[in-house]
Amino acid sequence: MKSTKPHVALLASPGMGHLIPVLELAKRLVSHQSFKVTVFVVATDHASIANSQLLQSPSASNDLLDMVLLPFIDISNIVEPDASFVTKIVILMLESLPFLRSEISKMEFRPTALVVDLFGTDAWEIADEFNMLKYVFIASNAWFLAVILHGPEIDRKEVDDHVKNQKPLNIPGCKPVKLEDTLDVFLTDPNGPFYQGFVGSGMKMALADGILMNSWEGLEPTTLKALGDAKKVPVYPIGPLVRPVEKPVLGNQVINWLDKQPKESVIYVSFGSGGTLSAQQVLELAWGLELSQQRFLWVARPPLENDASGYFFTVGNGSDGTPDYLPDGFLARTQDKGLVVSMWAPQVEVLSHPSVGGFLTHCGWNSVMESIINGVPMIAWPLYSEQKMNAALLTEEFGASIRAKAMELDGLVGREEIKSMVRRILIDSEGQNIRARIKGLKNSAAKALTEGGSSYNSLSQVAEICIQHLKTKSYGA
Ligand code: UDP
Repeated sequence: MKSTKPHVALLASPGMGHLIPVLELAKRLVSHQSFKVTVFVVATDHASIANSQLLQSPSASNDLLDMVLLPFIDISNIVEPDASFVTKIVILMLESLPFLRSEISKMEFRPTALVVDLFGTDAWEIADEFNMLKYVFIASNAWFLAVILHGPEIDRKEVDDHVKNQKPLNIPGCKPVKLEDTLDVFLTDPNGPFYQGFVGSGMKMALADGILMNSWEGLEPTTLKALGDAKKVPVYPIGPLVRPVEKPVLGNQVINWLDKQPKESVIYVSFGSGGTLSAQQVLELAWGLELSQQRFLWVARPPLENDASGYFFTVGNGSDGTPDYLPDGFLARTQDKGLVVSMWAPQVEVLSHPSVGGFLTHCGWNSVMESIINGVPMIAWPLYSEQKMNAALLTEEFGASIRAKAMELDGLVGREEIKSMVRRILIDSEGQNIRARIKGLKNSAAKALTEGGSSYNSLSQVAEICIQHLKTKSYGA
């Protein structure tokens, strides 16, 4: 007998920040809709690690949820070693498509819908071949999506005015994008591959049956209305999708240390899965934390010059050795105040810990959602991708953060600025005011997700479309 519940295939592009929200979407389709879900993961060494760790999560072990790791592809002879992480992702996604096609063709119960992320729209040909519905899941906010969808119609003069004359970029019905917050793509040659890829991806997204997003009505009502008015493609805000804390982490060095600190006394410092600072910036950060005289938990990575996303493909769950890139004597001087871990910390567990009073973040959207859901005020320190737009939203629209200012002279965020920001968040009333506003956002998120709430209803609408499509497929030839 044919199943009456659809099977949904999700394609996750490389990178922990991409895989984590896709897996959360998969879990939600299983738990809310009882759909069968297969997550295809484009493999890198990084993804392989992530895959095995994330699979240990109890909610990921479910008969209805399968993870398929697509074969590792060596692209070293196709791209230059210093190519941007975006170029590498795009190539890996393209090279993985034949494997995706082959996996889907082998399936007895073929998927009804294919959901891809920001980098996956080239898979539309496979979706069409197997008569699958096409969805994009943007694990980010509506403002960023609006820029992508309007990208194809932004003309050269507007981009020139934006970049050369510092005019804000106008996106219909949305907050204009200031040059200091703009996407890197606008700073590249409009005839070059990066810009053309951006325009192409906006066009391909408009061909989708819908776009799911990790945001919710109450968070971005104006932008979501503008997206609806633009009538380019149906948009379904279904968030926030955040990895939950599922079981107490026992024997973890970070959690054990947090257990010993006073309530809301610790600033957690992390730049996401790939964020990297220069050697000089690492030193300033260390000095700033020390001068603040506040408690800190710092996920510190070895510095790299001119490569803010340096660890995007290689970061894992490891911790290794004593960092030798910190100021002389820093660890000894701060041993009663701080903990430095290499590369990775259990972030959701950290943010939900009562000792954490603030989060110095690179503003990756998953980190932002995790901080809001756990009620933690932020210091926004964006590095790359759409992070500067996220920082602008957090600071100017949501009132959920203060924002780091780099010095004009050398582009560094100085130690005095860092000291002052940490103290403003942990000690001053400013931190408490932000905390109160985040509580409002947290409540609005909870409302959106409960039965009958806006995000719950959005996902139900998509589910219903999938159910109807499965019926048509079943009744058809
Ligand atoms: N993360 C983590 N530990 C770390 C760094 C990151 O668990 O030390 C997780 C974090 O909780 C989030 C994801 O990795 O879910 C990073 O996604 P985000 O969108 O914040 O940033 P990206 O890594 O994509 O830049």
